[in-house]
Amino acid sequence: MLKFPAVFLDRDGTINEEVGYLNHLTRLRLIKGVGKALRALQERDVKLFVVTNQSGPARGYFPKELVEKINAEIKRRLRRQGVVIEEFFVCLHHPDEDCSCRKPKTGLLEQAFAKYPIDKNRAYVVGDRLIDVELAKNAGLKGILVLTGYGRGEMEYVLPYKSIKPDYIAEDLVDAVKFILTDLGV
Ligand SMILES: [Mg+2]
Ligand SMILES: [Zn+2]
Repeated sequence: MLKFPAVFLDRDGTINEEVGYLNHLTRLRLIKGVGKALRALQERDVKLFVVTNQSGPARGYFPKELVEKINAEIKRRLRRQGVVIEEFFVCLHHPDEDCSCRKPKTGLLEQAFAKYPIDKNRAYVVGDRLIDVELAKNAGLKGILVLTGYGRGEMEYVLPYKSIKPDYIAEDLVDAVKFILTDLGV
């Protein structure tokens, strides 16, 4: 089967504004330009997925139904701009549970690889935390750090002490998409 290129997007701070725990639908704001940028990827046959750690419910902060509701709303708002998110892969575990899917562990990506014909040589992770870049590296993919959300702080205060290096540091998802399109040569 023909395998397709893919982008695994972090959710909070990458697609939508980082607000700490997104504990109510009224706090959901998509970051400017995200819909148009993702549409450009999709027009080049790049499939889009979301990979997100959501420990809020396990911490007792809000019900897990809210995570689903917010994901559905993100999906709906992007759909209105012509963007299809194939699937949201979510880790709902508490960090203490030591699951195999909480980023930077690769469980969520493995679920995606098992289900979809993805070309790992043309797959990217984009996120505002260095764990997103680590996730990419752990799975042998390219990792892009965006400077929205926690990104700028991660770059200034954490990255210098880490051995991992992003393949690209992008101002935001719009900039990350430009890099990906150039890198894919499409
Ligand atoms: Mg994030
Ligand atoms: Zn998990």
